[in-house]
Amino acid sequence: MHEPYLDALADLFYPRRCAACDRRSSDVLCRICFDALPRIEGPRCERCGLPTAFETYVCDACANVDFGFETAKAPLKYEGTGKEVVHALKYRGYRTVAERVMAPLMVGVLDGEIHFDAVVPVPLHRSRMRRRGFNQAALMAGAVANEINTPLSDRMEAVRKTRDQVELTAQERKTNVSGAFRSREPVHGRILLVDDVFTTGATTSECAETLLHAGASEVHALTFCRTV
Ligand SMILES: [Zn+2]
Ligand SMILES: [Zn+2]
Repeated sequence: MHEPYLDALADLFYPRRCAACDRRSSDVLCRICFDALPRIEGPRCERCGLPTAFETYVCDACANVDFGFETAKAPLKYEGTGKEVVHALKYRGYRTVAERVMAPLMVGVLDGEIHFDAVVPVPLHRSRMRRRGFNQAALMAGAVANEINTPLSDRMEAVRKTRDQVELTAQERKTNVSGAFRSREPVHGRILLVDDVFTTGATTSECAETLLHAGASEVHALTFCRTV
């Protein structure tokens, strides 16, 4: 359970440290690391979020890929301070980054298109959940849901444990996550699906398919980082 007043109390006794570089800082990110965030700027693919030379509805990288989601957006590249912030949350349990750093940047990239019926996190299998103690995507989804005043729904679950995707090819990733998720209840309307990193889109796409099967009319993916 996340208790904001405990964070506030902790700040009185322990000076804050920058989530990315661990130097003393008056906020969760120091000025230097904030300025160094690897923002994705300029035109990007409307469908998969990849930076492109010109504004486009589909890019060379995703033209031949089937995705369950309509669009995928991310404010940052998965490198440098962006990667550090993800690691701070995921591996060091620095939870305040979700609401202080991640959610504002993620909502920013939605560009005012914030009309969703629910925000849904990519679920974590219970064995990983036991090890980590929390689902980083759920914390991020909660912060995003707050920011856009939309209900959070956590009724999707991971029914099968999947392999770590780092070493897998795009095709292997697709097979790895196939049938891995299930929605415990019917879903309706437009869903905003939240995860930390978009790589090939295999996981987000499989989750989107699951939500469509459960009754969603469309799914849009939003992650904090994306590989480029
Ligand atoms: Zn820093
Ligand atoms: Zn694309």
